[in-house]
Amino acid sequence: MKFQELSNLLEQLSHITKRTLMTDMVADFLKKLKEDEVEPAVSMMLGRPFPKWDRRTLDISWTTISDTVKRLSRTDWKEFSVAFRETGDIGSAIQAVFEKNKIHRQITLFESSLTILEVRRLLEAIAAATGHGSRERKERLTESLFSRATPVEAKYITKIMIGEMRTGFHEGLMEIAVSKAFSVPLKTVQKAAMLVGDIGEVAAICKKEGVEGLSKVSLKLFRPIKPMLAQMAENTEEALKEHDGKTAFEYKLDGARIQIHKSNGDVRIFSRRLSDVTKSLPEVVEIVRREVRSKRAILEGEVIALGRDGNPLPFQHLMRRFRRVYDVQKMTEEIPVKLYLFDAIYVDGDSLIDAPYVERRKRLQEIAGNIPLTRQIVTGDPQKAEEFLKEAVDEGHEGLMAKRLDGPYTPGVRGKHWFKIKETLEPLDLVIVAAEYGYGRRHKWLSDYHLAARDGETGEFVRLGKTFKGLTDEEMERMTERLKKIAVENKGHLVVVKPEIVVEVAYNEIQESPRYKCGMALRFARITRIREDKGPEEADTIQRVREIYERQFEKKAKLNH
Ligand code: AMP
Repeated sequence: MKFQELSNLLEQLSHITKRTLMTDMVADFLKKLKEDEVEPAVSMMLGRPFPKWDRRTLDISWTTISDTVKRLSRTDWKEFSVAFRETGDIGSAIQAVFEKNKIHRQITLFESSLTILEVRRLLEAIAAATGHGSRERKERLTESLFSRATPVEAKYITKIMIGEMRTGFHEGLMEIAVSKAFSVPLKTVQKAAMLVGDIGEVAAICKKEGVEGLSKVSLKLFRPIKPMLAQMAENTEEALKEHDGKTAFEYKLDGARIQIHKSNGDVRIFSRRLSDVTKSLPEVVEIVRREVRSKRAILEGEVIALGRDGNPLPFQHLMRRFRRVYDVQKMTEEIPVKLYLFDAIYVDGDSLIDAPYVERRKRLQEIAGNIPLTRQIVTGDPQKAEEFLKEAVDEGHEGLMAKRLDGPYTPGVRGKHWFKIKETLEPLDLVIVAAEYGYGRRHKWLSDYHLAARDGETGEFVRLGKTFKGLTDEEMERMTERLKKIAVENKGHLVVVKPEIVVEVAYNEIQESPRYKCGMALRFARITRIREDKGPEEADTIQRVREIYERQFEKKAKLNH
């Protein structure tokens, strides 16, 4: 199948909003694919070069991509900036550059057109280029990819490479399309996708073996599954009520979540975003190897960083550990981490996904050896719950989790089986969409950050504040480097960037404000940490901000009366 056909489909999808029409079109397309084209096509349609569980990354910067396109198109890059300003979309801007560049296109007409499998192979080659001279090799491969692309193909190749599809056709819709294409019940497709961790692979199994193939699918060690998520509860009382009067409260530790996969001595650790962080956490690997009393397991826990005095260190120190690939040993001495376990998803042949929380916790307890579990009480007594929350906060933790006693493990779902309870107005996770150079000492750094929340309905990023507070000089310097790499437009002192970096922001109030389109602005915003563990699609929504705004208004109104 030609890549052009996939690009045309994506182009059509981006103009349609009707979901049934979208899923019908994709289903028809999937039916036409050959077996080995199914997974690559599905991955690409969702803006991924490879399946979700795949550890390979392209490791190519936007600068490299844009330099290649500039060189190929021999255009004045102003064209790109104008197109970007008009469309607000990198892929569309690249398409415009390609369209304006007719001379070059005539040359490539003599070459054969790209197929889906060829695009995949070139992406694989880009990912495989590592070590000395890899940048040049990546550039050359990128060049050969773009030099054979039509404008619309260039648009979608760019989108796949930068991982930003924006057609509105998300994973949930893909599950529906797969179910329609291969006449398999949606629930079966969803369950299989959860187990193998990739809808593309599920689609490929459907194509090859139909519903029978799917029934054989089970949890796989070393393939991380999406973590179960929690909803926010106002307080312990609400959690108790939602859980029919009795629940398990656990300390909510302020660290980083990890998923541990173990098969005998082989241990691998995945971050919340399912990337492999094994190399950064040797002491966790070691303790799991030594303590865990089962041959094979998938466990979950939270790691926190410890200071010299044994107290938890702020979150950003922990994130330094996750980033570190060199000098790990030195870092383990500087910032030791401690592991607390809180769930068991698989133990020695038994998938515990559908087992109730109490059973999973029991199995965990049995095999955890000397690794501590998160502190927990099971209670129906509101007063005990409040005391427990106070204890947790006094000990410097974030608050509590409330877990439904008979609740199964629901990967990727933010349902009512788990609640998180924090004491104060919760901070927001926002995305940096632009930054400005500072003054005086900070004139070399992008030090003033424009913050945006995600619009849960349209997927757009909506600005609602600006801050220059919270980062250390060192963090600011690093942030400047990172922002420059994802810059899409330079307007003198202001740099517009791809919405990619998520920061946790504390603030004193949400005000009504005509300054921003959403009508709200954060007052006294300050960055409390860089959320390396979250992607922009996980940032807080503008709808959530509005909820908090309304709630705070309620309280004030009460105070005034
Ligand atoms: P949030 O990231 O704010 O959505 O809160 C959920 C996160 O709390 C999880 O992803 C874990 O990283 C963390 N966490 C801390 N303690 C626990 C616990 N006892 N059980 C589950 N998650 C926990």
